[in-house]
Amino acid sequence: MKIKYKIALYYTLSAALLLVAFATLAYYFSAESRKAEYLERLEYRARSIANVIIDEGHVKIDLLRKLDKTTFQDLYKESILVYNPDYDLLYSNLRDTAIRTHRSLLDYIKQNKLYSADKDGGEEVGIYYSENNVDVIVIVASFDKYGFQNLQNLQQILAIELLLAVITLVGIGYFFARKMVQPIDKLVQQVDTINANNLQDTTVAVKGKDEIAQLGANFNTMLQRLSESFDLQKSFVSNASHELRTPLAAIISQLQVSLSKDRSKEEYQQLLNSVLEDAENLSELTNGLLQLAQSELTQQKFVFSNVRIDELLLEMGNLIRLKQKTSPKVEIAFARVPEHDLLVTCYGNESLLKVLFLNLLDNACKFSPDNTAHVTIDFYTQHIMIQVKDNGIGIPATELNKIFEPFYRCQNAQQARGHGLGLSICKKIIQIHQGHITVTSTVGQGTTFTIILPHL
Ligand code: ADP
Repeated sequence: MKIKYKIALYYTLSAALLLVAFATLAYYFSAESRKAEYLERLEYRARSIANVIIDEGHVKIDLLRKLDKTTFQDLYKESILVYNPDYDLLYSNLRDTAIRTHRSLLDYIKQNKLYSADKDGGEEVGIYYSENNVDVIVIVASFDKYGFQNLQNLQQILAIELLLAVITLVGIGYFFARKMVQPIDKLVQQVDTINANNLQDTTVAVKGKDEIAQLGANFNTMLQRLSESFDLQKSFVSNASHELRTPLAAIISQLQVSLSKDRSKEEYQQLLNSVLEDAENLSELTNGLLQLAQSELTQQKFVFSNVRIDELLLEMGNLIRLKQKTSPKVEIAFARVPEHDLLVTCYGNESLLKVLFLNLLDNACKFSPDNTAHVTIDFYTQHIMIQVKDNGIGIPATELNKIFEPFYRCQNAQQARGHGLGLSICKKIIQIHQGHITVTSTVGQGTTFTIILPHL
């Protein structure tokens, strides 16, 4: 069922229920008040009769008979029964004179002086009346014709009113529900038109400050993020293919040139060395892409264990020394002496952490004329802090926020080897470990990367 119909239905149902409850209460109280009023009237009637028939210490039934035929007959289907204290029937206006009141009821009236109850759809009141040492029991019963008629009228009026109210409620409910749902309908229509091709620069119209406007605004933010990530992906693919094509093209053209005529042994050796360099470059790039793809996986996909950060850094420093021909140096120092191993232990994935520090150490050596990376390890109760510092070319302030984007290389670093993937891989690895990475740099003086890794 559509939301607008649901809203209209719930609104109508609850309002109708409330109206029915009010109408029932109104009817109930009217009925109760009619009954109380009529019983009072009957009691007054019984007392008047008793008062009239007791005269000068005697019960004068003839007087009542006379009155009954003339003025008294004003209650509908009225029955009057008068008894003496010995329960002898002194007077009855009923045709069937055999009808007598039950003895137990007369006992009750004698004892309690007053009795009232429903009788044959009407009401009945009995009193025990004493005057000048003369006692009588008077029982008056009657049907409140006008009272019941009024109640019936009230019932009809309430039923008609309820019916009209429910019809009106359905109309009003539907009208407001449609009005409320209209912005959602519009939003749905607008969202329907969005696809991968027009994602860019597409926004949904947002009016007002209500929840639906908020939804629209959130949707716009989401669209913007989606569009950005689409753009990022597109530029990533074009960058990756460009980077892959360059060494491949170089390899192909070198091989074509070498095959065009016979060459000397030295020339072949030189050519093969050059092709090997390009192939190594290609292999480094594909490794980087693979690592980047791997680092896109979530934390659950990696095996985590306790990793000694100082040992890992030492290992990576040695590896760098072996890998690079330019004899790089990696100096590792503790800011303080750790009291126990756990202080320099982090809970992480060893292979990923190796990739992280290899990239940072490699960059520090690569981008500094002295080929040296200075590493400081510090530790706190919750985390370990590692700083990788160099005295190299530095990063221009305007480019600091871009270096973690895939394939981004600073203007002053174009001559150095690399593809601009290392730092984006580092950032992903840090995210997987729920850590932080920040950078400070001064052009011409050096760069410091600060890494925070939680212990556990
Ligand atoms: P790559 O080193 O392959 O170029 P990275 O992603 O590791 O790619 O680094 C991106 C860019 O950030 C580098 O090209 C360089 O411009 C800059 N950069 C990174 N580390 C340093 C550093 N220690 N000193 C100066 N510039 C750096």
